[in-house]
This record gives sequence, C-alpha cells and structure tokens, in this order.
Amino acid sequence: MSTAFSHEFNTASYKGKASFNTGLFIDGKFVDGSNKTFIDVVNPTSGKVITKIAEGTSKDVDTAVEAAQRAFDTTWGLNAPGALRSRLLTKLSQLMERDQQELAALEALDNGKTFAWAMNDTSAAIETVRYYAGWADKIHGQVQETDEKKLTYTRHEPIGVVGQIIPWNFPLLMFSWKIAPALATGNTIVMKPSEFTPLTAIRMCSLIQEAGFPPGVVNVVTGYGHTVGQAMASHMKIEKIAFTGSTLTGRRIMESAAKSNLKKVTLELGGKSPNIVFNDANVDEAVAWAAHGLFWNHGQTCCAGTRIFVQSGIYDEFLKRFTEKSKQIKVGDPFAPETSQGPQVSQVQYDRIMSYIKSGKEQGAKLHLGGDRAGSEGYFIQPTIFTETKPEMKIVQEEIFGPVGVVIKFEDEEDVVRQANDTVYGLAAAVFSQDINRALTVAHKLKAGTAWVNCYNLIDANVPFGGFKQSGIGRECGEYALENYTNVKAVHVNLGIKMN
Ligand code: NAD
Repeated sequence: MSTAFSHEFNTASYKGKASFNTGLFIDGKFVDGSNKTFIDVVNPTSGKVITKIAEGTSKDVDTAVEAAQRAFDTTWGLNAPGALRSRLLTKLSQLMERDQQELAALEALDNGKTFAWAMNDTSAAIETVRYYAGWADKIHGQVQETDEKKLTYTRHEPIGVVGQIIPWNFPLLMFSWKIAPALATGNTIVMKPSEFTPLTAIRMCSLIQEAGFPPGVVNVVTGYGHTVGQAMASHMKIEKIAFTGSTLTGRRIMESAAKSNLKKVTLELGGKSPNIVFNDANVDEAVAWAAHGLFWNHGQTCCAGTRIFVQSGIYDEFLKRFTEKSKQIKVGDPFAPETSQGPQVSQVQYDRIMSYIKSGKEQGAKLHLGGDRAGSEGYFIQPTIFTETKPEMKIVQEEIFGPVGVVIKFEDEEDVVRQANDTVYGLAAAVFSQDINRALTVAHKLKAGTAWVNCYNLIDANVPFGGFKQSGIGRECGEYALENYTNVKAVHVNLGIKMN
C-alpha cells in the first residue's frame, strides 16, 4: 500500500492543503516500492516526522528504466516532434504556476527554506521549464560544406534513457534544471530526488501526468543514494547520468559510470567561493550582496560566497557593517513573514556544520559572531562569522554548507587572486570595485565557472552554470545544457562520388 501525504498549511504566509500519493512514479502511475519499505520525511523546523515515502530499490530502478526505454522507443525520443515536446513543457510550466504556492509551501516544509524564498525558487523553476519549452522545437544540426558531390549534415539526436540525481538544497529548482533540457531534446528520464527532500519531486509527477506527458517519459524513484543512486550510476541501460551534489559522491558516480557502460557524465558539485571587496567598492552595496552571498538558503548553496576577502583600507568599516547586517538576520519559522533564515535541512547537516564551527575555534580562528544553536528544537544555527583565519584551516579550505563564513584581510590584487584561487573548487566568485577595469581584470583571472561583478547569486535559466576544477563537469542552463542531452550524428550522402 502506498503512503499518502496530507498536510494542512495554515500559516501567515500560505493557507492551503496538500494531499497526494507518495509512492514511486513509474510508467505514468504511482506504485509501491518492490520491498514495501519506507523512509521518514522529517520537518527540519520541528525535527518531527511529517510523512513517509517509498524506499526504492535497484529492482525498482530496473522497472523504471524499462518503462523509460519503452517510452523512448514508442511515444517519445524520435517519435515526439519538437512542437509536441514544446507544448507539453509549456503546459507543465503553466500547471506549476497554477500550483506555485502549494509547491513553495511544500518546499518550505520539507527543506526549511523560508516560504518567501521558496516562492522565488519556484518562480526560477517555472522559468527554466518555460525557457526549455522554447528550445524544444529549435534543436537542429548543420549542413557541412564538403564536396559538391556529397551532402553532409549533422543531426542532434536524443541520447535515450538518462539518469538524474539531485540534492536537497534546491529540490524543485534542481528537478527543473535537470528534466527541462532532457525533455526538450527528447530523452526519457529516471530521476532520484534527495531522500531528505522528496516532496516537490513527487508532487511534480502529478503535474507531469496532468500535462499529458506519455507514461514512462519521466519516472521518479525515491530512495537512498547508496542503493537507488548507485544502481542508476552503474546501470547498463542508462546512457547518461546527470548529478548534482557533493564532490565525494560525484567521484563515486564517475567510477560507477566508468566501470559499467561508460555512460556520459555531467556533474555539478561543491564550492568554496571567494567574494573579493576592494577599497574602492561601494561598501553599502558590497555588505548587502556579501550577506546574501553567504547566508542565502541558510548557507546551503553550492556557490555561496563563504570566503570574503576585504582590502585593508576598508576592512574595519566593512566588518562592522557586515556584522550589523548579519545580526539583523531573523532566524525562525520558515512560514513567518519576518523570517529570513530557517533551519538547516537535517540533523546530519546540523551536526556537520557545528563540527566545522568547533574546528574553527580549535584551530585558532576568532569566532566573531554566532557559532551556536538558535532556538530549542529543529536544526537552527546562528549566522556565524570567523576572522583572523589562516589559509590552511578547515573552515577556509572545506565546504561547510551552512551559515558560516570567514572574512579575510588582503593587501593587493595579486595576493588576493592567488588566495582566491587557492582551492580545489572553482564554482563561483565575485568582485566588488567601482573601477570597471580592475573588476573585469580580476573576474577574468579567477578560476570559476561563474564570476559576479558587484552582485552575488544572480542566476538565470538562459545563462550557463557549472564549475571549473573539482566543482564539476559540464554546464547546466542556457543553450549549453542541450549538449549534455544530445548525440551528434554526421550523415554523408553520396551525390556522385565514384569508387573505382
Ligand atoms: P550528496 O552528494 O550526499 O547527495 C546528492 C544526491 O546523491 C542525493 O540524491 C543522494 O541520495 C545521492 N547519492 C548519495 N550517495 C550516492 C551514491 N553513492 N551514488 C549515487 N547517488 C548517491 O549531496 P547532498 O548532501 O545532498 O548535497 C549537498 C552537496 O551538493 C554540496 O556539496 C553542494 O555543494 C552540492 N551541490 C552542488 C550544486 C551545483 O550546482 N554545483 C547544487 C546543489 C548542491
């Protein structure tokens, strides 16, 4: 018997009710997992169980892959014209818009992000689906000029069954970043959401059904990474895997892909992004963006600006104002309109972040602000700032994935570029300066997939996102993401070349 989610939202921000089946979604239907076991879904605000979801198995992955392959061979893939794919994606974006408040409320309940920011995330998710709806009927190859007696052209064909594994920090946005380009290009999908935040992915299955996607085009198998995720990464009939999550897991996925069928792999991984503030920056602006860069989504953001480098001439003033700004962050119930920071996603993450705070203190950094639990239940942590750090400290080198940052004083441009690039990661970076020559020169020297100038965390559906170095392989969003989901075929047609 499948479980069912039912929740009455009755808060200042959103009043409503959500109820739906929380089984696996395979071949267009909600079904039980083959083991008939379940995973608790916990509300991070209270630490209490809110519902259960099916715990999928490798057998369920096999069933989902078979359904996806059937759909690819009959109703989707080369059988579904671009205009149809475009129409269905457009319809899906409209249904998401219709149910946006419910999706945002589910996201806030399940992940702990504030309802206001969850509305922002859902808007971005809707934009992404709408953006790729626009691409679906514009996928085309090229005619190559070779020989007058030959016609040569390329086709950008869908790959087939693709596996997609997503994390818990932006559950619905990551779901959309993954499914939209894959569907626009004609692939079928087996998706695994994070076991910590599965609810919006499951809810989306009903909308996918309602939009009219043929059965088997999108399948969602909930479950753990070491079982369902591992089975997907090593599956012989999944031809491409797209993953967002930690660098450690990304490495495992590449290994499994290499040892199985050499499936194509794209990875969006971690970061330890530098945010550089020069003496000539507008300090008010830099403080506001730096706080957003570090504390947005409770610091659970892969591109978070966790290493804030401030030039010596404005260091004291910046730190004073940044501290005041950070103190204004209201930590509490994600549904309360005045809240700007909710709980961390889980007990595991809470413990991990607190252990980094402990290590910062033990390794001799100065705890400048915060550093403690907030409230008495749930997984709340105070906005935390360290100063007087050394480059080799764990809090300077490793991704914490919580509301914890370091503020570092620097003297000159050359020195700060060296320090900023002194990390295994290369996801994002930012520069604050009113000298546009300096800002752009430094932005170009930083080894990162995204460089922001006088802003932070601005992300758009039509702009590529991804990492240098150990922050990943490939790009999501924009036209670039289409390449991840197409095979290029060259066709040579003989118009008169003779073979003697
Ligand atoms: P995680 O790697 O633990 O889990 C991510 C997903 O992978 C989950 O669905 C999980 O169940 C699954 N998984 C775990 N082990 C697996 C295995 N052995 N095989 C296959 N799948 C497995 O990461 P997380 O804790 O959920 O997310 C936080 C991390 O994700 C952070 O490091 C963050 O930087 C990164 N992240 C990166 C981006 C990006 O775009 N670059 C975006 C969001 C999060």
